[in-house]
Amino acid sequence: MNIHEYQAKELLDKFGVANSPGGVASTPEEAEKIAASLGTDQLVIKAQVHAGGRGKGTFKNGFKSGVHLCKTPAQIREVAANMLGQTLVTHQTGEDGRVVRKVLVAESVEIERELYFAVLIDRATSAPVIVASTEGGVDIEGVAEHTPEKIFHLHVDPLLGFQPYQARKLSKLLGIPTAQMKSACVLFANLYKTFIESDCSMVEVNPLVITKGGDVRALDAKFNFDDNALFRHPDIQAYRDIEEEDPREVEASKHNLSYIGLDGNIACLVNGAGLAMATMDIIKHHGGEPSNFLDVGGGATEQQVTEAFKILVADKRVKAILVNIFGGIMKCDVIAQGIINAVKAVNLPVPLVVRLEGTNVEAGRKLLAESGLKLTTATDIADAAQKVVAATA
Ligand code: ADP
Ligand code: MG
Repeated sequence: MNIHEYQAKELLDKFGVANSPGGVASTPEEAEKIAASLGTDQLVIKAQVHAGGRGKGTFKNGFKSGVHLCKTPAQIREVAANMLGQTLVTHQTGEDGRVVRKVLVAESVEIERELYFAVLIDRATSAPVIVASTEGGVDIEGVAEHTPEKIFHLHVDPLLGFQPYQARKLSKLLGIPTAQMKSACVLFANLYKTFIESDCSMVEVNPLVITKGGDVRALDAKFNFDDNALFRHPDIQAYRDIEEEDPREVEASKHNLSYIGLDGNIACLVNGAGLAMATMDIIKHHGGEPSNFLDVGGGATEQQVTEAFKILVADKRVKAILVNIFGGIMKCDVIAQGIINAVKAVNLPVPLVVRLEGTNVEAGRKLLAESGLKLTTATDIADAAQKVVAATA
């Protein structure tokens, strides 16, 4: 799960990570009020969407940038009016962009240096790793590609935790002046603590700045949480903003379906995560692009299959559907009945290819044959993939 910057700021405050005072607003008037309450002429207003690259983004109404420095509350109000309700496109949003529903108004600082700091789980070592760079602020992906030597990795032993000597080493690598070393070390340690105690899968601060006044602060923070640990954090769960999520995934989660939306045009309904992955692979192997991952699991009910099928059919990018079931615990007749129910409710606007095998396969095939449903049957997984790719041509 992802959260907004203003929510991340609340977590940073809770863990004592220095950032910038400010508040969130949904209207230009609110934004102006917050700006006035900050009592400074150094202000910043930032569009709140679950995507980075806002500074270099552009709104569909032509307004430039999702991050503006301002001098007065009146200016903040004016910029807020240009951002709220508008769609911001950044290199992370895709061309559809994201609608801005809230803005963060905060104190701005004069920046001396912009650094990059992140904590995430390194899959190779199954342990936390700190990734940091002297080249913060702009796009870190570009730094990784062109000057990878400017990115440092520091592994943390999960049992020992982040050690003070590691904090000092990191400060040195980042060239932090002696005067700021102490506050930088405190900030690193507190960010690590935030990461562990909130069950994050990633904490990314970009930029982490040294101000002209000599402070060290986290100016922008992105958090990603391990969904499987969210039950331990009702306060973080409350940060969920379903407006920012893929509507297909929101619908699937209501029915407890393991569904991940993708960009292709071939919908897949499969039982078992392994078979679902193999199905996606073989679709790609035959030149197609899957529009989703969907594992209906072993114990899916007819109702769940119906709902799953409805999600596939409702997806405008879908040009063909592949049902690939190898019935073990899952029974083929349950799948067949689920599909028939769904088609009755929503019709079938695209070609359907079905490959059924395993438990109750004869009953399943009989149901489909007698339903009068227009579909193509396939004998095995390769045959199914070829037929569904051909159906989209
Ligand atoms: P994004 O990463 O989505 O572009 P950021 O919050 O990192 O958004 O903002 C982009 C840039 O705007 C930062 O690199 C920084 O230079 C500037 N900026 C952001 N917040 C502040 C602030 N509070 N004070 C001064 N400059 C800021
Ligand atoms: Mg940033």
